[in-house]
Amino acid sequence: MIPMAFFLWNEHHFSRAQDEISREQRCANKYARFNLAPVWFEEKIGNGAAAVDIMMNGFTTMFAANGFNRSAKAFIKYEIPKAGQNFTVKATNGSNPETDSLTVTINPKSLDRTDLSNTALTGALWHAWMHRLGYRHPAGLYTSYFIGEFPMCLMRGFRDKVAGEKDSRLFQFLS
Ligand SMILES: [Zn+2]
Repeated sequence: MIPMAFFLWNEHHFSRAQDEISREQRCANKYARFNLAPVWFEEKIGNGAAAVDIMMNGFTTMFAANGFNRSAKAFIKYEIPKAGQNFTVKATNGSNPETDSLTVTINPKSLDRTDLSNTALTGALWHAWMHRLGYRHPAGLYTSYFIGEFPMCLMRGFRDKVAGEKDSRLFQFLS
C-alpha cells in the first residue's frame, strides 16, 4: 500500500518535471468537481488537474515533515470494527501539512481478504491520507468530490468510468 502510494506520488512529479499533464491529473480533471482545495489553501482552484498539483505538493511537504520528525509522530494503528461498523482504512481530519502526522487506522481483517487488491487498499489509504492533508467531503458522499474521485481514479488504474459501473463498488472502501 505505502510503496504504491509513493510510486504514484513520484510518477506524478516525474510527469510534471517533463512538462506533461500526469495521468493522475487527467483522471481527476474529468471527475472531480467539489472541494478541490484543502482547508489550508486560500485561493480558488479552477479544475481537477490543478487540484492534483496542489495535493501532490502538499504530500511532498507532509512526507518531508513526517520523515524529518518536524510533525507529530505518525502511527499505523490497527482496529477491528465494532459490530455494525465497517472500514478499510480511516483517519481523523488534519489541517496543517507542516505539523500533522500521517497517522491512519487500518482494519486488519481487510488485509486478510484475498478478494481485495493492493490497488483497492492503496485507494483506501490515499483517501485517509487526504483527510490528514486537509481534504473533506460530506458524510457518505464521494462522487464528484476530489477526495472521493481521486482515490476512485487510483483504484481504476486511472482509466475512465464505464457505463453501468457503480461508484459504490469502489467507494465502499473509503471512510
Ligand atoms: Zn472520508
